[in-house]
Amino acid sequence: MADAARQTYDLFIIGGGINGCGIARDAAGRGFQVAVAEMNDLASGTSSGSTKLVHGGLRYLEYYEFRLVREALKEREVLWAIAPHIIKPMRFILPHHKGLRPAWMLRIGLFLYDHIGGRRRLPPTRVLDLSSDEAGKPLKPVYRKAFEYSDCWADDARLVVLNASDARQKGAKIMPRTRVVSARAEEGVWLVTTLDAASGEERTHRARMLVNAGGPWVDQVIAGTLHRNDPRNVRLVKGSHIVIKRKFEHDRAYFFQNDDDRIFFAIPYDEDFTLIGTTDLDFEGDLDRIEISEQEIGYLCEGASNYFLSPVTRDDIVWTFSAVRPLYDDGASKAQEATRDYVLKREMVDDAPMLNIFGGKITTYRKLAEAALVEVEKALGRRGDSWTADTPLPGGDFPVDAFAEIVSQFHARHSFLDEAEARRLIRLYGTNAELVVGAAETQDDMGTRFGGSLTEREVQYLIDEEWAVTAEDVLWRRTKQGLRFSEGERSALDSFMRTAARTETGVAGTPRAEEKRAGDGGIGTGTGVGA
Ligand code: FAD
Repeated sequence: MADAARQTYDLFIIGGGINGCGIARDAAGRGFQVAVAEMNDLASGTSSGSTKLVHGGLRYLEYYEFRLVREALKEREVLWAIAPHIIKPMRFILPHHKGLRPAWMLRIGLFLYDHIGGRRRLPPTRVLDLSSDEAGKPLKPVYRKAFEYSDCWADDARLVVLNASDARQKGAKIMPRTRVVSARAEEGVWLVTTLDAASGEERTHRARMLVNAGGPWVDQVIAGTLHRNDPRNVRLVKGSHIVIKRKFEHDRAYFFQNDDDRIFFAIPYDEDFTLIGTTDLDFEGDLDRIEISEQEIGYLCEGASNYFLSPVTRDDIVWTFSAVRPLYDDGASKAQEATRDYVLKREMVDDAPMLNIFGGKITTYRKLAEAALVEVEKALGRRGDSWTADTPLPGGDFPVDAFAEIVSQFHARHSFLDEAEARRLIRLYGTNAELVVGAAETQDDMGTRFGGSLTEREVQYLIDEEWAVTAEDVLWRRTKQGLRFSEGERSALDSFMRTAARTETGVAGTPRAEEKRAGDGGIGTGTGVGA
């Protein structure tokens, strides 16, 4: 077993989801020495399987979660401003129909929604006449009236990677495909043993504080690494989505209510598709095998068909994804009633501090990280002020209302790209799209086109800068090009990724190349490591 322990980190974070990476970014920016170990790909857990809303959570008002809703509402505009490439405002249409929640209740909820969250840029709620508004066209004529309100949409997996990238730029060591297999405290210092999935090498790292951001695995981490008996802090609730071919032409989303009181969304997705979800079911299976069930597919198709004029059938489905919410177990009887708020618990283990993170949302990850840093600074001493609310994430250094302008300038500089391609690159990489294109002056300079609009240059950027190792990392998390790939194209990309991993390329001067020079060896050192 190698001893990587020459350095003693301040913080060793278990879990490279939104919470682990969000805490890493905040802590590294305050000057803490930080390491993150993620057993698979970054964002391969719950943080790529969300509904992708940066939202207050209208429904949580029914459960009196005012603190959470207020904080989440405020975060919408904060996150949009620091990541205007991967986060955008969206209008939601909530059809009203008798037999469902009464109009007065919706009005009160939406009034609070508009007023308790410091809304500045997002437009307020309005009432829609669906018999004349375009949004009524794809719906059954029984839906005549609706409320339309604002929230935001986010590329969840990219939000994670951008937090990790920024943490790395600020000195954090990010170790994807590195499982924490044990942790013990000795004389006030943590000795954390990791297993590198590619090389099979075990290493021991030293740290002053341990952060368990294992998401749905948080209790497993407590039980397995710390050898505690059967902890039960989280309630695991599965949610699944279906993606179908575009169901409607406009760019607004629908918020539908089912007659079982549950709600679900139909959201424009990646230009040509519609995302429908989610379900909410208690989960007790294997966390490495989370998939949509026949029952969930039936539920979502039937629910959507109750609203849309033309029914949604299984044949319309082009992709599905499922994930598990790690909700703090507050003893609620129904899955959808369990609190969505986060709970942080700090404790001492053999004189060494540990922080366990339970629950949370994509929307509140930044506030959760700030709350975690309060606990970290109580244990390790104060280092700095909160700073993440107004510092852009990588590529997000432009004003929220300048997106179209950024696209058009980028397109003008690289006119060999078509306009849709220029927009796609800015949507994913923001101002860092320049690094993706690099010195290319023609489409040929972008290299092999693997499928969809994914080129070799972009893939190489993802390998060099964003820890992509497998085709799955590229197709389903760094981009959503998987929706446009055939099986043959996917396997060609897979072969390319395997070769790239073997040859360990790395553009000089990139963080990855720098890490290699420094002898990090933590990424891309093996072939075909599945996520
Ligand atoms: P994860 O993303 O699961 O990260 C934990 C990581 O820890 C995993 O990647 C795992 O591999 C790693 N790990 C575990 N054990 C180890 C170990 N021993 N060693 C190394 N690594 C380890 N929130 C919103 O704000 N808006 C939404 O629209 C929304 N929709 C949702 C829809 C669904 C269906 C679900 C399930 C959740 C949704 N959420 C939403 C909530 C949000 O997605 C989660 O709260 C959030 O992603 C949890 O992040 P996390 O970092 O805690 O967990």
